[in-house]
Amino acid sequence: MQIPQTNQGLNFGKYSNFEKDIDPKQRAWIEVSGKSIEKNVKQLRSKLSKSCLLMAVVKADGYGHDAKVVSEYALKGGASQLGVATLKEGIRLRSYGFKEPILVLGNLYTKRDLIISFKNDLMPTISSLRECLICNNIGKHFGSKFSLNLKVDTGMSRLGFESKKFVQQFEKIKSFENISIKGIYSHLSSADEPDSLDPKSSTQKQRQKFQELLKQIGVDNNHNIKTHLANSAGMLLNKDFHFDMVRVGLSIYGYSPLAKKDKTLLLKPALFLKVKVAFIRIIDKGVSVSYGGKFISNRKTKLAVLSIGYADGVPRNLSGKINVLHHKKLYPQVGSITMDQMMVDITGSNEIKIGSTMILLGSDGDKIITPLDWARESNTIPWEILCSFKNRLPRVQID
Ligand SMILES: *Cc1c(COP(=O)(O)O)cnc(C)c1O
Repeated sequence: MQIPQTNQGLNFGKYSNFEKDIDPKQRAWIEVSGKSIEKNVKQLRSKLSKSCLLMAVVKADGYGHDAKVVSEYALKGGASQLGVATLKEGIRLRSYGFKEPILVLGNLYTKRDLIISFKNDLMPTISSLRECLICNNIGKHFGSKFSLNLKVDTGMSRLGFESKKFVQQFEKIKSFENISIKGIYSHLSSADEPDSLDPKSSTQKQRQKFQELLKQIGVDNNHNIKTHLANSAGMLLNKDFHFDMVRVGLSIYGYSPLAKKDKTLLLKPALFLKVKVAFIRIIDKGVSVSYGGKFISNRKTKLAVLSIGYADGVPRNLSGKINVLHHKKLYPQVGSITMDQMMVDITGSNEIKIGSTMILLGSDGDKIITPLDWARESNTIPWEILCSFKNRLPRVQID
């Protein structure tokens, strides 16, 4: 038999050109629906008063969805501002041409970083007089005003001015001529806890403290300074948390963090995690599967080998705890999830072939698997699931 030459009849030229020949759907990939993001933002907007703004939080590459696609569609849906965690994330968005206000939620504390932030028209989050002074000096140096947001700590104990000293420090900040305070905000620590509507809950206490501070500094009715407190959970609790703007992440991606779901809010997951079946094998009864032999077949079993593993961001501690969808049917994943592959029990299916596509996250007909399901099984939160997906998974926009 003649062995075919792999390069027969092909002229690929340099090896470095090979990569673009690969189909992004060749192995495992993430599909992102921009339209779902747009609809989710519209849905969320409909719960806000007309004057209340919505900031789309697109940090961590848009919670793993692709910050460029998310920003574009969130703005189409009615978002007015974008929120990022890092300087680099903000600069990226500017390089794509987004002109809307961008708030850097993480802390910039060196003069160098603050200058870069100023030059790229990114608003830093300011947590101290020291940072405020640096910004004022930068504004003065460039003969202009540095736009920024002040943050006050009301119970998260992360960033922000100490609430006890804030009123006094604000008096001083008001006299700085080369800064422009565009917003004052705080962050909720426990809004997704079931007791959040209880008047004695820490969430209500944070809201009261924030409101009190705004009153004391006299900006509770100043519409040039946007006041904001709510993340997705806070926003969905009730209108008392909305102030002038809400900063929403998880909900624009299609998931509510509250245990009690609002039935009038139709959020749609924007992310699908899909994978190809790379191999199929049939094993006898009593045969072990994957590392450590944790799964042993109790009957003759048909296995599909999927090209995705923990190096792609599927948590290994989900081994044996998840299902995978194919044509509206669920199939159990079996054995340890390996770095690059995992096995699924597809006994009884004649439809699934080598090269078939299976869905790890997303919906098919009335069946749906979400990051909330995975989070419950792996003892974490949906936010962590979404931002664990690695660059090895191509992001494919589907509309
Ligand atoms: C990430 C983040 C948000 C968004 O939170 P979600 O729960 O995803 O809506 C809002 N505000 C700040 C300061 C954040 O860091």
